[in-house]
Amino acid sequence: MERTLVIIKPDALSKKIVGKVITTFEQKDFKIVAFKMVLVSREKAEEFYQEHKGKEFYEPLVNFMSSNPCLVMVLEGENATQKIRDIAGNTDPQKAEEGTLRELYAQDNRHNILHAADSLKSAEREVKFFFSENEIHHWEGKIYKK
Ligand code: AMP
Repeated sequence: MERTLVIIKPDALSKKIVGKVITTFEQKDFKIVAFKMVLVSREKAEEFYQEHKGKEFYEPLVNFMSSNPCLVMVLEGENATQKIRDIAGNTDPQKAEEGTLRELYAQDNRHNILHAADSLKSAEREVKFFFSENEIHHWEGKIYKK
């Protein structure tokens, strides 16, 4: 089982499509193992996106991500990192495959409703960036049975 980090970005909250995003992940059999609402500070957003520092979209990206709250979550499932990126679709909604979340709901490559870690290494770093180990739930053997 793999864990990955997803950020539901401020535009998804203002569009009131959070439920649709989460339902999509649940229907694909991913489990939520951590979840919280965060108003990411400018400093935190700069640190999170440090690999993009100097690129022309860096400043507006940091501004956007720290403008209003995000929902951050850890999802667990088989091959989670790659599968969730596939479900999200291309960063640019104009290029996103049909039926992907970004094709359906994103406005442009900044207001693109969610972030999904792009590799196992990033997933590990990003989960730790937002959550401590005791904030992550371990479902094994604790699932309610009807
Ligand atoms: P990534 O680290 O690849 O997930 O990129 C982080 C975020 O930066 C993306 O989700 C976009 O919102 C933004 N981004 C990436 N490339 C561009 C671009 N060419 N123009 C504007 N925003 C971008």
